[in-house]
Amino acid sequence: MLLTDPITLAGRTAPSRVLFGPHETNLGHRRALSDRHVAYYRRRAAGGAGLIVTETASVAADDWPYERAPLAADCPDGWRAVAAACRPYGTLVLAGLGHAGGQGSSAYSQGVLRAPSRVADVVSRELPAELEDTELGPLVEDFAAAARLAAGAGLDGVEIDAGQHSLLRQFLSGLTNLRSDAHGTDRARLLREVLTATRAAIGPGLVLGLRLCCDELAPWAGITPERGAELAAEFAPLTDYLVVVRGSAMNLSATRPDGHTPPGFNLDLCRTVRTAVAGAAPVALQGSVVEVGQAQWALDDGVADLVEMTRAQIAEPELVALLRAGHPERIRPCVLCNQRCRVRDNRNPIVSCVGEPASGHETEDQPVPGRDAQPLDVLVVGGGPAGLEAARVLALRGHTVELAEGSAQSGGSLRTAAALPGRERLALLADWLAAETDRLGVTVRTGTRLTAAQLDAAAADGRSVLLATGSVPGPHGFDRLGGTVVRPAELAADPTARSLPPGPVLVFDPIGDAVGVAVAELLAAAGRPTAIVTQDQVVGTQLALTGDLAAANTRLQQAGVTLYKRRTVLELHDGYALLEDVVTGHKQRAECAVLIDCGHRLPERSLREAHPELPVAGDCVAPRTVYQAVLEGRRAALRLAAGTEGAHR
Ligand code: SF4
Repeated sequence: MLLTDPITLAGRTAPSRVLFGPHETNLGHRRALSDRHVAYYRRRAAGGAGLIVTETASVAADDWPYERAPLAADCPDGWRAVAAACRPYGTLVLAGLGHAGGQGSSAYSQGVLRAPSRVADVVSRELPAELEDTELGPLVEDFAAAARLAAGAGLDGVEIDAGQHSLLRQFLSGLTNLRSDAHGTDRARLLREVLTATRAAIGPGLVLGLRLCCDELAPWAGITPERGAELAAEFAPLTDYLVVVRGSAMNLSATRPDGHTPPGFNLDLCRTVRTAVAGAAPVALQGSVVEVGQAQWALDDGVADLVEMTRAQIAEPELVALLRAGHPERIRPCVLCNQRCRVRDNRNPIVSCVGEPASGHETEDQPVPGRDAQPLDVLVVGGGPAGLEAARVLALRGHTVELAEGSAQSGGSLRTAAALPGRERLALLADWLAAETDRLGVTVRTGTRLTAAQLDAAAADGRSVLLATGSVPGPHGFDRLGGTVVRPAELAADPTARSLPPGPVLVFDPIGDAVGVAVAELLAAAGRPTAIVTQDQVVGTQLALTGDLAAANTRLQQAGVTLYKRRTVLELHDGYALLEDVVTGHKQRAECAVLIDCGHRLPERSLREAHPELPVAGDCVAPRTVYQAVLEGRRAALRLAAGTEGAHR
């Protein structure tokens, strides 16, 4: 049984066993699916996805968990368009249907949250109203009515959400269902009623899937793996497939973790559930499955019948097609960074990917593949993510490309970040970019620092030049009156920290992203007495965007790292740093043999200043994230190829 083999569900055949699961995208227009959704899903269908479950739509109007959360009543036109767009590829398209219950938000509905019992949500702390017994029948009918709408829109079926963020899980759980009525003494009753009513609504010829939380990671009262297996065995005969998920409001970061959690974290749980289900329905593995090798192993070893690879297909929409063509090595890796595919943060961004920034922007971005009429001879200066992506795109479009990188290895900031704990997978993106540029015939010269005169010579030869020269360390944000200062990039080259002076280490982190936290973790793991200084009330504030904030602070405390919060570094002396409380102005000394300065970097502009007419991309414009570097490298390459910027023809 191969990932690329078809699977038949309710008499409908999916072309592969790879599922693109329901996830929040912010692509919607108000509460309807948009043209962006259609293009987003079409691209994954064209890339070989076997099943696509559209973004979960609320079955009731008063359930409005985030601003652009789809509402089933507003979705039929969008569902119809998605089905039409995906049908040519044979992909089965199902509507995700759910209700967030007490995990919703009253910010948009301006109404009360409804839940099984009056248990405040751990995240919002909002106390919901308890659903009256008389409200449960209409709620069941809401699911059935939404399923009828999906069927009427021409979809292949629906998937009911009893996963991490769902009212139906809240009813299943002793954490949140404290009722004494029939839906409390039998906590599975509501889900049983919903599945039965939904099946009656869509009939036997459409697919009915179930996303079921089988481990809430809260064994004192929540669903345990043993109970999850019992529930799965009960519900499997009512469904056409079952997706095994874990987590609850108690542990949100565990439901969609980043690279600190190994890929395939639900393997054991899924195997247990599949054994309990005993063939009553196909079982799907979910949980950071981003490697096709692991996914295939899960099928081979009896863990699952199909595999959900959602982030993997955000990063590589053609994942199945490349696998089918015998080129798994060309699949762009998901590095489990959570930097652009999580959309529930205060910026309200739309879904995208650090390695594939056109994801989510399918209706706006120019496609990368294609051949340009006039081939160019291009010199790309800098082999970080911006330069590598620019070189890749130019070569893909038929241009002759040489890339010059000053250091001994390409990859730039990706390599630096990958040396830090929990960020190791970033090296996979650097490796992939290097392999693709190699495959496409780019001449890469590492250890080659070009001068302005060499750029003059290139221009005189009629070559086009693109600058992606990266960044340099910025000035220290403190007075250095002594002591030793090391930058994260230097530490990344010596992850054992043996080259540092002996004694305690102080990490100064005025940014609050993944770097400062990871540096502190690395040093603590190397056995160094470590402290971290932040001006914020918590360490690593920017990690809220990737979902790692709480987990990062827990890891630091477990590692014994001293946390200096609300402090900044005023001065560095031999043996100590002078800190100031940013609220009270109180000053104190912190002993340190070395300070790691995780402050902002600045653009590397020496060649840019000599040649301001040349196109630029990435950190040499302004040092930011890998996403911006890849995006700008790609766009600069496309503009160069189109002759709209800096090309000599
Ligand atoms: S942003 Fe990161 S985690 Fe998300 S799909 Fe892309 S590589 Fe994967």
